[in-house]
Amino acid sequence: MASETKTAPKIENTNNHVTHPSMFDAVLARLDVAAKLLGLSEDVAEILRHPQKEVKVSLPIVMDSGKVQVFEGYRTIHSTAIGPSKGGIRYAMDVNDDEVRALSAWMTFKCAIANLPYGGAKGGIKCDPRKMSEGELERLTKAYTTALVDIFGVNKDIPAPDMGTGKREMAWFLNTYSNLVGEHTPGVVTGKPITLGGSRGREAATGRGVMIATLEAMQKTGMNRKTATAAVQGFGNVGSHAVRLIHSKGIKILAISDHTAAFWNEKGIDVEAALKYAHTHGNVLKGFTGGTEITNDELITCKVDVLVPAAIQNVITAANAPRIQAKIIVEGANGPTSAEADKILNDKGILVVPDVLANGGGVTVSYLEWVQNKSGLYWSEEEVNTRADASMGTAFESVWYNAQQYKTSMRIGSYITALKKLDKAIKYRGVY
Ligand code: GLU
Repeated sequence: MASETKTAPKIENTNNHVTHPSMFDAVLARLDVAAKLLGLSEDVAEILRHPQKEVKVSLPIVMDSGKVQVFEGYRTIHSTAIGPSKGGIRYAMDVNDDEVRALSAWMTFKCAIANLPYGGAKGGIKCDPRKMSEGELERLTKAYTTALVDIFGVNKDIPAPDMGTGKREMAWFLNTYSNLVGEHTPGVVTGKPITLGGSRGREAATGRGVMIATLEAMQKTGMNRKTATAAVQGFGNVGSHAVRLIHSKGIKILAISDHTAAFWNEKGIDVEAALKYAHTHGNVLKGFTGGTEITNDELITCKVDVLVPAAIQNVITAANAPRIQAKIIVEGANGPTSAEADKILNDKGILVVPDVLANGGGVTVSYLEWVQNKSGLYWSEEEVNTRADASMGTAFESVWYNAQQYKTSMRIGSYITALKKLDKAIKYRGVY
C-alpha cells in the first residue's frame, strides 16, 4: 500500500502550549498523498488547499440569568466547484476555525463521493448545548442565522444538523431565515422536522448509510454477517441508528457507548432495551444494566469483527491503534481516526471505510430533502431509503474501485474518487 499520510505537525496555541495537531493539516496531508497518486495538477490541488470563504461572528446572547454572554460562530465554505455548498452546523466546546475548516473540506469530498451536485461547507458555534436552556439555544441559533444570513441560500449554502444540533435547531434556522428574506424558504436548510418540509428517513439516514457501508465492507472481505460481531462508539443520532440497523441485519452488537458510559456484553447487547433505556433516561446510557461497564479505550480495542466509531473526532490514535482487534472499521463520525493512526491500521491490514464515504448517507438524504423542497412533491420513507441505499452502494463501489486501481487504502481511494470529479469541475469552469 502507498504510504498513507505525512505526520500532521503539532500546532502551538497563543500560550505556547502544544495542543492537538491541526485537523486541517491532517486533511491536507491526505489530500497531498491522493493528489500525488492521481497525478492531480498542482493548480487544482492548490485551489483545494484553500477554503473559498471563512466567516467568524460574535453572537451576544442574553442568558436566562439576565447577563450577556458572547459566543463565537463560524461558517466555512470550502468549495462550490460542483454546486452550492452543503454541510452541517455543530454546537460543541471544541469548535474552532481549524476544526470547521477541516470539516468543510471533508464535506466537499463527501458530496463528490456521494455524487451529489454540491460543494462543501461547515459551521459551528463554540458552546456547550447540554448546559444551556432551550430558550438560550433558540436565541443563539436565531442570532447565528441572522449574523450569517447573506452566506446562506437555497442555491448558495445549505446547512443541516451536525454534532449537538438536530431538527429543532433547523426549524429555528428556517424560521429566522424565512423571516429575514421575506418568504418561506424550506430548501435553505435540511434535517428539518417533517411538518416543515423535512424528509422522511432523514433522521436515521446517516446510521442507515453506516449500516450499508458495513454490509458492503463485510461482503468485500468475505465476512459472514450471521456470525459477525460489532462494537459501536456513540449513541447519538448516528450511533443509535447504526446500532439498531446493523443489529437488524443479524450482526451481534457486543459493545456500545455514549459520552456517559460504555458497556460490553459477550452474549450480545439487547439493542431494543438499550434504545428504550436511553429514550427514558434523558438520552444517555449511564445506569444501563444490560452489560458490564467498560472504558472507552476498552471499547475501541475490544475483540469484535467490526468497530464503528460514531461519536467524535480523534478517538483512534497512534496510542490505541496498535491494540485494535477489529478487522473492519466503519467511520460513522467525522475524523475519528488521526492521520498517524491511519498508517498503523493499514499496516495491520484493517479495512477502514472512511468517514467521507461511510457517513455520507446523511447528506445524501439531505439532498433528497432539498430536491423535495424544490419540487414541492414529497416521497415515502421507502422511496427515500431505496434511493439513498442505491447511492451509498454506488459510492462504495467507486471508492473501492479507485483504492484497487491506485493500490491504496479506501481513505486515499475516497480522496481520489472526489479529486477526479473536482478536477473536472474546476477545469470546466476555468480559473481567471
Ligand atoms: N452534518 C452531516 C455530515 O457531516 C450532514 C450534512 C448535511 O446533511 O448537509 O455529513
